[in-house]
Amino acid sequence: MIPIFDGHNDALTREDRGDLAQRSSRGHLDLPRMREGGMRGGIFAIFTPSPGEQSRQITFGAKGQYIEPLAEPVGQEVAAAHAKATAEYLLDLEQQGEAAVARFIADVDAARAPGAPPVAVMHLEGAEAIDAGLAQLQAWYERGLRSLGPVWSRPNDFAHGVPFVFPSSPDTGPGLTERGTALLAACAELGILVDLSHLNEAGFWDVARVEPGPLVASHSAAHALCPASRNLTDRQIDAIGAGGGLVGIVFATPFLRPDFADDPETPLSLIVEHARYVADRIGVAHVALGSDFDGATIPSALGDVAGLPRVLAALADGGFSRAEIEAISWQNWRRVLDAWWR
Ligand SMILES: [Zn+2]
Repeated sequence: MIPIFDGHNDALTREDRGDLAQRSSRGHLDLPRMREGGMRGGIFAIFTPSPGEQSRQITFGAKGQYIEPLAEPVGQEVAAAHAKATAEYLLDLEQQGEAAVARFIADVDAARAPGAPPVAVMHLEGAEAIDAGLAQLQAWYERGLRSLGPVWSRPNDFAHGVPFVFPSSPDTGPGLTERGTALLAACAELGILVDLSHLNEAGFWDVARVEPGPLVASHSAAHALCPASRNLTDRQIDAIGAGGGLVGIVFATPFLRPDFADDPETPLSLIVEHARYVADRIGVAHVALGSDFDGATIPSALGDVAGLPRVLAALADGGFSRAEIEAISWQNWRRVLDAWWR
């Protein structure tokens, strides 16, 4: 079985999470199903929902454009308490021997050994939990934080997130704030990967100009195939390739489909089409997986994390060689994590 490292899941903050050490049929991911699917490691997001999450109204603009409003901001104290409790839950799983939390690249390598516990990279999806003065970043690093998206799709002290709009360019507003630039520098200094997936285009270029490490969009897809604001333009993809970074191809059906439909009857071949598009443009070394398990609607042909071998089979059907699939499944993620962490 080819070991898989996946770049993004929301299992830790899923409402009906329960005990991730127990196999369940809820959601997309728990540790036993991870093992079944060959997912030996992944980036585990810690995400604090917005207060008005339930009341958001989707609107349709002129010409039927789909516009989901930006979620309400979350206060720093609320986010800090929520995120800390979620991190402690992950650290409890580590204490119980159910999972390892990656602090060094050797921890990622160790997860490939048969019988080893799967490895989780602790990730903050939106940096609301970090105070504007960044005093708490060091404590988060010590807790195990090794990856951070400055912003989710809502504004915060650090950046302006990209709203969910279709069809739309990702160029939806201003990029990093001054504090966002300071956060970027602090992450690079400590060795915390900075994830670009929810930045708008201006924010993306703000990071690319500094280039603190290889550019990584952990769960995104190609704008040329699905013109959603959350997807990457050719120029962005080229910049990711030039800097040795990667695109974790997302399995969320709206970002894969040319019609943005939130439809589980989306074939796995669409995941392959996005992987092929990025590979043809910048090389297989810059393609990886970034499922968004437990954060989005995924193809029913995949079902949950235990179905991951079917994605690998679809990649093989799409003409990727075994060596290329191994790179997409593990080596490419290992390379960028290693580059950011050293
Ligand atoms: Zn996300």
